[in-house]
Amino acid sequence: MGKDTGFIEFEKQAIPRREVRERVQDYGEYDLNYSNSDIRRQASRCMDCGVPFCHMGCPLGNMIPDWNDLVYRDQWRDALGVLHSTNNFPEFTGRICPAPCEDSCVLNEHYTLDPEEKQKKKHSVTIEQVEKHIVERGWQEGWILPQPPQQETGKKIAVIGSGPAGLAAAQQLRRVGHQVTVFEKDDRLGGLLIYGIPDFKLDKIHVQRRIDQMTQEGVEFKTGIEIGKDLKISDLRKTFDALLLAIGAQHTRKLEADGHDLKGVHYAMDYLPQRNREVAGDVLNEEKIIKASGKKAVILGGGFTAADCLGNLNRQGVHPEVCQFELVDMLPRPTPVHEEAKMDSRANILTESLSGSTTGFVKSLNGVKVQWEKGKGMKPLENTRFSVDADLVFLALGFLGPSLEGPLQELNLEMEIRGKHETIQVEKLQQLLKSGQPMYQVRADPNFMTSCDGVFVAGDAKRGASLVVWAIWEGREAARCIDSYLMGESSLPTSPQAEMLA
Ligand SMILES: Cc1cc2nc3c(=O)[nH]c(=O)nc-3n(C[C@H](O)[C@H](O)[C@H](O)COP(=O)(O)OP(=O)(O)OC[C@H]3O[C@@H](n4cnc5c(N)ncnc54)[C@H](O)[C@@H]3O)c2cc1C
Ligand code: SF4
Repeated sequence: MGKDTGFIEFEKQAIPRREVRERVQDYGEYDLNYSNSDIRRQASRCMDCGVPFCHMGCPLGNMIPDWNDLVYRDQWRDALGVLHSTNNFPEFTGRICPAPCEDSCVLNEHYTLDPEEKQKKKHSVTIEQVEKHIVERGWQEGWILPQPPQQETGKKIAVIGSGPAGLAAAQQLRRVGHQVTVFEKDDRLGGLLIYGIPDFKLDKIHVQRRIDQMTQEGVEFKTGIEIGKDLKISDLRKTFDALLLAIGAQHTRKLEADGHDLKGVHYAMDYLPQRNREVAGDVLNEEKIIKASGKKAVILGGGFTAADCLGNLNRQGVHPEVCQFELVDMLPRPTPVHEEAKMDSRANILTESLSGSTTGFVKSLNGVKVQWEKGKGMKPLENTRFSVDADLVFLALGFLGPSLEGPLQELNLEMEIRGKHETIQVEKLQQLLKSGQPMYQVRADPNFMTSCDGVFVAGDAKRGASLVVWAIWEGREAARCIDSYLMGESSLPTSPQAEMLA
């Protein structure tokens, strides 16, 4: 345990953050670093509970009390070793994980049993920040080096998709001696880490450092190759002993309201990659750039994607009053970007239609307040109709599942509709999607194998749109299963989460 009395002596310290006025002028990360002594003091607050709920709350099973103790004792290199034993990319999760570990921290319970009071202030250990500092110290000190395998197995694996699931799997598989090739359809590697999540949350240098490390370990990366179009799965199966589909779940939910096709109405995933490209220095087609300076914006949706639209809009100088409407009975999760604008955030709002000008540009959004009833769905409430002005509307309505074209179509894999445990082939699902918008995922057995022998799946494609921490867990577990499939056994670690879920 860190310091016996740390949790009594020291208060939780808020994350140091750049001033709003300053940070909206650029795309640099909004979080600053604690000093070394501050982060050690924060780590010393860990009580090393007999049952560490934080560790169970972390999908990766990160050994949190162990590294908190090592940080308190100034043994950073050992802390790094423990951290890397469960997480390939702690610099990603240390910045953008919603930190379910912190919600599980027993220190939250210590001060009050009143649920309202508890919502007001969390007293948990600043676990995510300790994680970030350990790994950043590792990079600064030059402790993070490539770990090429000791011997080659002669087996070849193709990983399709370079998001966090594909990258974690590729690194694990290479380190036990397999030849790994990662195919990516985009021009840059990293999936949503690169073309979704903005730089002010995660600077892309962190992704590039890992790609460089993996290249030095011997992973081969091929960008600009779309499997299913440029190369068929049948081509890959001739060369590779196993395939991993880590293709994400980027089939977006559509807005079914009149006016959804007006000019100025944009899907978040048409906007966010464009912003990241511009920040990366790409020259964009001037006509296609979504400009926001001085415009009134409405964002539909309450998740990460919606918040990332907001942060970008703030940096483009949008009109300072931004509306954000969420259909379900939950206010949008407040994040640092919500401090940057004057927000009109509302839950239980259904968009009935969008009105446009004679030139086809969106002018206003017409909505109504709804009430949700268990098992019955929602019903509009009388006298609650309203309109707000809008020059731009961003649709961040969530994701249905992976693209059914390409690999899934070629293999006609078994899929499942979320919430229902029925199996449905890709062809039938395509029919179903013509008349509805069910959420779906690729069906896999407990060993991450799809209905096609030797073809595995991991990440959002398997569990539906989720989190980076889950994608890394999925990639690591899928790697162990692929290794066992090819070699009869595997020395790759499994996370305790896997045992609990099995
Ligand atoms: C805007 C946004 C913000 C988010 N913010 C957060 C956050 O702050 N914290 C958090 O924990 N999670 C966040 N998430 C969720 C998180 O990004 C995902 O859960 C995670 O990236 C999933 O990883 P993945 O590897 O499964 O898929 P992805 O990251 O989607 O990567 C899939 C990759 O496969 C490639 N691909 C697909 N098909 C093919 C093909 N046929 N051939 C070759 N390549 C192919 C794609 O181009 C892509 O690069 C966010 C998601 C979005 C959309
Ligand atoms: S990965 Fe996420 S849940 Fe796990 S320790 Fe880090 S912040 Fe917590």
